[in-house]
Amino acid sequence: MAGKLGLGPSEMLNKEETIRQIPNVNQEQLNGGVIYHDGQFDDARMAISLAHTIDAKGGCVLNYMEWNAFLKENDTIIGVQATDVLSGETMDIKAKIVINATGVFAEELMKADNINAPLKIRPSQGVHLVLNRSFLNSENAIMVPNTSDGRVLFAVPWNDHVVVGTTDTEVSEISYEPKSTDEEINFILANAEIYMTRKPTRADVKSVYVGLRPLISATGKSSKALSRKHLVDRSESGLINVLGGKWTTYRKMGEDAIDLALKHEPLTDKKSGTEHLQIFGFDAASSWENALHVYGSEQEKLNNYGSLESLSDNVYISEAQIRYGVQEEMVFTLEDMLARRTRCLFLDAKETVRIAPKVAEILADELDKDQFWQTEQVNQFNQLASNYIL
Ligand SMILES: Cc1cc2nc3c(=O)[nH]c(=O)nc-3n(C[C@H](O)[C@H](O)[C@H](O)COP(=O)(O)OP(=O)(O)OC[C@H]3O[C@@H](n4cnc5c(N)ncnc54)[C@H](O)[C@@H]3O)c2cc1C
Repeated sequence: MAGKLGLGPSEMLNKEETIRQIPNVNQEQLNGGVIYHDGQFDDARMAISLAHTIDAKGGCVLNYMEWNAFLKENDTIIGVQATDVLSGETMDIKAKIVINATGVFAEELMKADNINAPLKIRPSQGVHLVLNRSFLNSENAIMVPNTSDGRVLFAVPWNDHVVVGTTDTEVSEISYEPKSTDEEINFILANAEIYMTRKPTRADVKSVYVGLRPLISATGKSSKALSRKHLVDRSESGLINVLGGKWTTYRKMGEDAIDLALKHEPLTDKKSGTEHLQIFGFDAASSWENALHVYGSEQEKLNNYGSLESLSDNVYISEAQIRYGVQEEMVFTLEDMLARRTRCLFLDAKETVRIAPKVAEILADELDKDQFWQTEQVNQFNQLASNYIL
């Protein structure tokens, strides 16, 4: 289906070949398998590369800036009121076009624009468990096409670990830190147990993380049946809403939003140019073997920021990454560094708690902060990390 963009041909595998590809697959009742190719990425690093791309294209990117309200004139949106969360300063920002691309939070903004907004977001929660790589012991992922609740389950190699998931649980509350339920954890472990020779238990889980999918509401359908497609909509006051969707189609989502906005507010006669844009750090030859591959073409530069030796044996994080993060990637907090510039928290939460004070010390040096700040950051981080530890 992918045509020229396909990553490789799919193949049927007999039992022996399946075991050779995945030595830890449960061999009981195994008849064979199918091998197919798929892409993998690091979502937080991708978001950082996109922010860098905006900057390189002459845009202005703000971090820790919270939307509070829309500014309107004659029922038309002319900007937003926003607060710099770090300083507490509130400001009005005028704009010819305002795009609401707030994922699962989009409904709150749509309602603020129009209390009777017709579209709704139905959040669906997905939980992932991270295990030691030895549970998979393969370069290949396992994809189980039909779990006990009729979904697919993945066990995917990721940064010397393996990620197992996910779930699809409708939730009514939208939060920045959604919490997993025992039922979800048990479901993943029970299904993983069926397919792995080494059975993972709660004690083997290095980190548990949870996300909310921003599905668009369609009455009477369960979240599994809801479309993962996106929708771009313009309200009467001119707010462009980008709803639903997924990472796979993010460029198409961006293109549709820009083209719709420009149709009504012709700031330029150019169309969105995202289709063939190489994003910041693009490096076709990047090797996954290298822990720094997520920096792409920027990798070499890291040498100039400090030592590349890891502060931990279990997860990779170095002084150079921390200093580079502050100077080049808008790192302001310990959490920024440990959860979103590196993925330490997602890979091994307990180990990350152990190294957090050392990371805070380097951050404090780079950001010119005192001991009190370090202690506060470590306490806040430990509280967050407790959600990732079973
Ligand atoms: C478990 C799970 C598995 C998934 N698997 C896949 C997959 O395999 N493939 C795929 O393509 N997609 C997948 N997705 C979907 C994908 O992750 C989401 O569609 C995507 O992250 C949504 O991106 P977004 O930019 O729309 O929203 P978000 O990533 O949620 O970003 C919204 C942003 O808006 C900000 N925001 C909210 N309110 C405010 C405010 N008042 N002021 C300022 N900022 C605000 C938030 O801080 C956030 O940064 C998965 C999602 C989940 C949860």
